[in-house]
Amino acid sequence: MPRGVVPRRPARSGSQDKARVVRAPASVKLATPSRPGKTITGKAALANKSSGSAAKQRPRTSAGRYNPVAPERIAEILKRLDELYPDVKCALTHASAWELLVATILSAQSTDVNVNRVTPELFRKYPTVEAFAALSPEQLEPDVRSTGFFRNKSKSVVGAAKRVVAEFGGQVPDDIEKLLTLPGVARKTANVVLGSWFNKAVGVVVDTHVHRISRRLELTKQDDPQKIEQDLMKVIPREKWILFSHQIIWHGRKLCIARKPKCAECSLETLCHAGDKTWSTVDMHKNAKA
Ligand code: SF4
Repeated sequence: MPRGVVPRRPARSGSQDKARVVRAPASVKLATPSRPGKTITGKAALANKSSGSAAKQRPRTSAGRYNPVAPERIAEILKRLDELYPDVKCALTHASAWELLVATILSAQSTDVNVNRVTPELFRKYPTVEAFAALSPEQLEPDVRSTGFFRNKSKSVVGAAKRVVAEFGGQVPDDIEKLLTLPGVARKTANVVLGSWFNKAVGVVVDTHVHRISRRLELTKQDDPQKIEQDLMKVIPREKWILFSHQIIWHGRKLCIARKPKCAECSLETLCHAGDKTWSTVDMHKNAKA
């Protein structure tokens, strides 16, 4: 935290959730040693008032307005994420593209920890995609029950296995169009498999953490995962797409949690204006929320 900046904790009343608008006072005294007592007005007064604060370094458009997706702000966010999470990888335990596909399908509405508890025994029991393809969804249900939504997940996993065997020779395809033809596979799952197993940056994984934190960091205003992904693909350099998703997912687990983000411990804090921060040294923007 910069010296001299007094952090403020958002009021319980929520009144502080509003974006703070700094207005130029009609006139302020400019107390410089050389010209004591000189009075300045309007924009100059505002510039003087802002000097030395975080606002001074805020990225702006050519029209002078704050731009949350200015390249220098994005670069600083990525730099701080690199420092926080230098070598993060997919948290789902897997040893093949097929195992990663299954684990990602099972992770919907569940936690990675929960899925990792289930999959070792699951892959021991059914070691190949052909073994899954030979099942009926009902046979698989007891094995994946604890991950939630187990009927739909069983249907998706068995359906995907049958199609991988019938259409792709038992190999999970490394092509997004083909992956999207598998039951239970949407862009998030396809991006996880392509990025984490095939190392192909075709898109950005938008899970619940990326959804929430992208909005808090004002990288998007959208609420629909596909639109969020499109926004992120525009502002994040392609070579960062895979790592960025992993870093944001870890950030969402460790600090930027849904209900009570640990803003006082977060090194992105001075760049973050989220309206639902629990601690802030900068203005908060009411529309930047999870
Ligand atoms: S400052 Fe708070 S809301 Fe912003 S990214 Fe960090 S933890 Fe999340």
